[in-house]
Formats: sequence, C-alpha cells, structure tokens
Amino acid sequence: MKILSDNTSLLKSLRPFNDLGFVPTMGGIHKGHLSLINKSNKLCKKTIVSIFINPKQFNKKTDLKSYPQNIKKDLKILKKSKKVDFVYIPKFNDIYKDRKKSKIKILKEDKILCAKFRKGHFEGVLDVMTRLTKIIKPNKIFMGEKDFQQFYLVKKLLETNYVTKIIPCKTIRDKNNLALSTRNLLLDKSQLKIAAIVYKSMSRIKKNIKNKKNIPHFLKFKKKELKNNYKIKIDYLELRNKKNLKLSKTTNNSRLFIAYYLNEVRLIDNL
Ligand code: AMP
Repeated sequence: MKILSDNTSLLKSLRPFNDLGFVPTMGGIHKGHLSLINKSNKLCKKTIVSIFINPKQFNKKTDLKSYPQNIKKDLKILKKSKKVDFVYIPKFNDIYKDRKKSKIKILKEDKILCAKFRKGHFEGVLDVMTRLTKIIKPNKIFMGEKDFQQFYLVKKLLETNYVTKIIPCKTIRDKNNLALSTRNLLLDKSQLKIAAIVYKSMSRIKKNIKNKKNIPHFLKFKKKELKNNYKIKIDYLELRNKKNLKLSKTTNNSRLFIAYYLNEVRLIDNL
C-alpha cells in the first residue's frame, strides 16, 4: 500500500495503470468504507482510496471542527485490509491549486432533501469530486447508497462529463441496523439507542406505507410522532423515486429518506 501525499507522486505512481477503482472518503474509516474498497478490489486491477476532509462541503463551521479524524488509525485499518494499492492524502492546495471558481450549480429540481437543508453542501461535494476525478482519472468510482442523493448527483454530473462509471454500494449497518457513519463516533449510548429506534420506525413505516392512500399525509403524521416521542429535530421524511428522486406515490422503485438531528449531530438514512 503506497501513500501518496502530493500530486506529483500521485501522477507518477498512477501513470502505468488504466484499470483504476477509486474510493473517495473523508477518513474515519469503518466497515462501510471497507465494503466499497472490497468491491473496487473485485472489479478493478488497482484501488486508490482518498482521505480528504473537504472544507467546502461543510455548511457549518462547528460541523467541520468536530468531524472525527485519525489518519494513523485509518492507515492501519486500510493496510490490514490488504485491498488497497494507493492511499491519496492530499493537502488543500493539491485539490484547490487550480483556483478557478467552481461553476457548479444545483438545478432547481434537485434542490430537495439535503440540498434544500444544507445550503452549498452539494456544490462543495460536486466541486471536490470533479477535481478528484480530473487528478486521478479513475475508471470506476465506488460510492455508498447511505448517501443516496450524493451518489445520484455525482453520477449525473461525472458520467456526463468524464469517462468514469459511478458504482453504487449497499449500506453497511451495525448490529442494531444503524447505518455506519464516521459521525456515529460523536454519539453517546443513549443517542445510539434512539438512532436504532429511528431505523426500526423507518422500516415499519416503509412496510405500512403500502396500504396508505395519502402518503404525504401519513409521513407528515409519522414525522410529528417521531419528533415528539424522541425529541429529535427532523429535516425530512420523504418517499422518493430512486431513479429521479421525485416525490413518489407508490413504494415501487422508491426509497424512504430521512435526515434528523441528535443534538448537534445530523444523521441521514434511506431504505
Ligand atoms: P464519507 O467518508 O462519510 O464521506 O464516505 C465516503 C464514502 O463511503 C461515501 O461514498 C459514502 O456513501 C460511503 N459510506 C459511508 N458510510 C457507509 C455505509 N454505512 N455503508 C456503505 N457506504 C458508506
């Protein structure tokens, strides 16, 4: 496993390879990241993982400040997996040296879910993903379905403009079915318990939704119920079509999306 900490060594090391799988991360490596790495290792000759906490996608300074990081531990886990050929740990300037201001705009129809509640977040994600793709030139990029809207927007942008394929990977969960996330490290025991209950409620809601005539009304009621029972702030609880992310009136080809806060920690999930 070779560590690449600047663009010169990256370009030199990657030059001989033309079947490259790329797993972008912000570190805090967990089994969710490792599942993406496994898939890349199976489908591509070489796998490169990036660790870069991209400041431009944080719409709150406090969120960026508290974002967990431990490069030493990450490298140990990645090495132990024996599935990673390169780890790219760029500095801010390696990515943003080309100071051209990003022209990325989120379309009005895409300003839904997290794009509506986290202003500027996806502009930052799409900017950094474009820059990483230009630098690394991967054949395939592996992304988690836990961040479904991110996968959807990145796929739409990058597959239109670059020769790369975005490969979705299933959400990995802990023993209580909570979707693994680096931000889970910020939760205490009682908050983890509530997060597990939210998952259970989501799967019950998804099951019951089938026989409901007025889905938005039913979800509005369930959102209120969750909010009152567990004292959580909920940004959205919506059923959307997984191909175009439009609001859905049936469970066919649809996913139930949630974003909520446990104190200051914002969690998302979809089933
Ligand atoms: P992050 O480090 O949180 O930015 O995530 C890096 C990549 O890992 C993204 O494509 C995420 O969607 C993916 N990922 C994060 N958590 C999970 C999970 N629990 N299961 C599958 N993929 C995940």
